[in-house]
Amino acid sequence: MTEAYKAAKDELLKRRRRSEEDNERRHLEISTKFPEISRLERNILNTSIEISKAICSHSKNISELIDRLKNENLSTQHKIETMLLSFGYPSDYLTPKYTCERCKDTGFVSGMRCGCFDRLINKYSILEIAKNCHIKLSDFSDFKAEYYPNTPDSNGINPQDKMKLLKDYCKKYADNFSTDSPSLFMLGKTGLGKTFLSSCIAKELMLSGKNVAFDSVQNFLIKIQNEQFGREPGNTIEVLNETDLVILDDLGSEFNSPVFQSALYNIINNRINLEKPIIISTNLSLSELKEKYDDRIISRLMSFEPLRFFGVDIRQVMLKLKNR
Ligand SMILES: [Zn+2]
Repeated sequence: MTEAYKAAKDELLKRRRRSEEDNERRHLEISTKFPEISRLERNILNTSIEISKAICSHSKNISELIDRLKNENLSTQHKIETMLLSFGYPSDYLTPKYTCERCKDTGFVSGMRCGCFDRLINKYSILEIAKNCHIKLSDFSDFKAEYYPNTPDSNGINPQDKMKLLKDYCKKYADNFSTDSPSLFMLGKTGLGKTFLSSCIAKELMLSGKNVAFDSVQNFLIKIQNEQFGREPGNTIEVLNETDLVILDDLGSEFNSPVFQSALYNIINNRINLEKPIIISTNLSLSELKEKYDDRIISRLMSFEPLRFFGVDIRQVMLKLKNR
């Protein structure tokens, strides 16, 4: 059982207990104030016992008897409701209330998992993914423009200027985030801050209460494969459909296999169909991508907002600065 499944079951149990306690409290209140209602409720209970006995007795005219008893109960129930109304209570005051009336908070309807249970499992799975994220989350305030060269590169582009704009774009993206936000495709060589800026967006959204699934493509795909082969419980594909934002880091570093490609395609395609944003980053060049992935994946990636990263490997810059 996954942690998410356990957490969802616990939540259902809590809901049932809350509903029972609430129900008991209301019964106690009514029995103290209006004992005649409690007497009528006992009548219903006794008649129900009689019905059970009648069913077991196999005697003649049994269905007639059962019908009579059932009608008796209905009219008593009606009497109780009229009395409750006349005392200023809602007529269903003594009926148990559930968060989900469909499954009465048991999580199952005719042996099948109820939608409320599935929703809870997904909710806790999203939290589990966020908790298990292997990538350190950062703040936009930690962005260091000085790590990027302040001189034009061979194409006449000033990396520092470009990266400042990019950081502002990402900050605005996080500030104004909604499910209508565009999907982003972060491109650039290793060590230019793609993971860093992704993690800044992730952190800011998480702090504002949004669900973010953030991990490397490799980790997500391994998890999905383990689930598909029954080695691990869970439904990561579904969770990735539900999350407010999905960030797939380091596309291209994962093992290349048809199973992985098809899972990857499903993740991306589902998000597009659901019109929910996804951020993907890669160290690969466009031609390397085209070599590795089939056209369906490439054409979807091309529909994203491209963010090109410039500069030189920050880890090398930091090392140089340290040794100076
Ligand atoms: Zn339910």
